[in-house]
Amino acid sequence: MIVYLNGEFLPLAEAKIPVLDRGFIFGDGIYEVIPVYDGQLFRIQEHLQRLENSLAKIQLINPYTRADWLRFMNVLIERNGGGSQTIYLQVTRGVEKRQHHFPDSVTPTVLMTSSPFSAPVKVTQGYTAITRPDIRWLRCDIKSTALLGNVLLRQEAIANDAKETILIRDGYLTEGAATNVFIVIKGVVMTPPKTNFILHGITRDVLIEFLQRAGIPCQETPVSESQLRTADEIWLTSTSLEVAPVTRLDNKPVGSGQVGAVWSHAWDVFQTFKQQALNQ
Ligand code: PMP
Repeated sequence: MIVYLNGEFLPLAEAKIPVLDRGFIFGDGIYEVIPVYDGQLFRIQEHLQRLENSLAKIQLINPYTRADWLRFMNVLIERNGGGSQTIYLQVTRGVEKRQHHFPDSVTPTVLMTSSPFSAPVKVTQGYTAITRPDIRWLRCDIKSTALLGNVLLRQEAIANDAKETILIRDGYLTEGAATNVFIVIKGVVMTPPKTNFILHGITRDVLIEFLQRAGIPCQETPVSESQLRTADEIWLTSTSLEVAPVTRLDNKPVGSGQVGAVWSHAWDVFQTFKQQALNQ
């Protein structure tokens, strides 16, 4: 695997970061995960916009222009053999002696890696999820590399043979440990609004757009815990899952306990419009 580190393309084993990097010491950095389908970056402008937003929210100057980012990513994709890949990129506040406040002047550390990506296939059985209180901080809109809360919450899912942990804050659904959440009640699709309590997922936005285009409106509205628990369908979205059905929540069936008809339609719509966008 070839990675990009601070202006250079080099084999993963040769990529080294000093131990005083603030990403390592404090988790003082932000990241992005971008899908590449058959060599083509998907929704790259939206990912670059979110990257710019994350950097601005932590007061870190963007080291590159959009054109630079695109150029480096395309070289990385090519050096890793093209095809379908997942690009992971992170920018940290660089290397300085350990002190909490920002260094006066420091060069950010920029890392980009690529791993093979196989787009998900349409499942016939849904996933299992558990719920937990959302123990994370109040700036979940920042795509921060400091993910200890998310890590502990996702681990609870794995320990309980579940795919995801769905989070509840003050009686309302926020999101999953690494996914956004949609529910369907009597044919109406709903997902929590974009606030500081959730990561503004690109797949979430793409799905809302595609649903609207297909005439399946989606309401961005607070979802109570009781709505979540009585929903006919629950879906998870993320770059790697696209849109996935949850059919068991806390060991109880969701709706009929089978994958939902609205999800099945939404999956087909997602694939059709995604493919159209890639063919353009
Ligand atoms: N919420 C959280 C907490 C996430 O970490 C992620 C990314 N895995 C998402 C939502 C989904 O975001 P995206 O659709 O941009 O992958």
